[in-house]
Amino acid sequence: MDQDTLIALADRGYYKGEELRACEQAGITPLVPQPLTSNSKAKGRFDKRDFRYEADHDAYQCPAGERAPRRMSTIEDGMTIHVYGSSACPACPLRSQCTTERYRRIRRWEHESTLESLQSRLDERPEAMRVRRQTVEHTFGTLKAWMGATHFLMRTLPKVATEMSLHVLAYNMKRVMKIIGVRPLMQAIMA
Ligand code: SF4
Repeated sequence: MDQDTLIALADRGYYKGEELRACEQAGITPLVPQPLTSNSKAKGRFDKRDFRYEADHDAYQCPAGERAPRRMSTIEDGMTIHVYGSSACPACPLRSQCTTERYRRIRRWEHESTLESLQSRLDERPEAMRVRRQTVEHTFGTLKAWMGATHFLMRTLPKVATEMSLHVLAYNMKRVMKIIGVRPLMQAIMA
């Protein structure tokens, strides 16, 4: 595409933290909304978005205004997770809205700032997801219509990837022919 910078847009929740980080390290700016599901919120309690991280202190500020410093760290699925908590929980008047345990704990991936900058970028570009939908959803709908109401013909990931690539190539060729015409396309290919 002859671009120095790339922005990658994906549908809500289609990411892993490590993949977002790999994008950033490769100079690609990812934009993907985070899932809105939260067990705590569903049960009427504060969820993580109600806690504000204070990088200067490496601590969270909780909804009661208490500081929750880092208590411990653990490794889960190869990711380092820091655990934060306030010692004020047992006497807190908001505890019933916060936790069913004696102490509320907040978990933070060591590279969680990647997810936080992702959310800030999305907040600055509220139109991004609408543009993504308008740009790519119809393409997949068209491809599906061309393929018909059936499954992929091939089996196993490498073969299915090849089949899909051929569909995408055919789609792109038809689009270019429609937009610039067959002759200019042939000239561009020969050049
Ligand atoms: S229970 Fe603990 S973490 Fe929750 S609001 Fe109260 S002090 Fe803050």
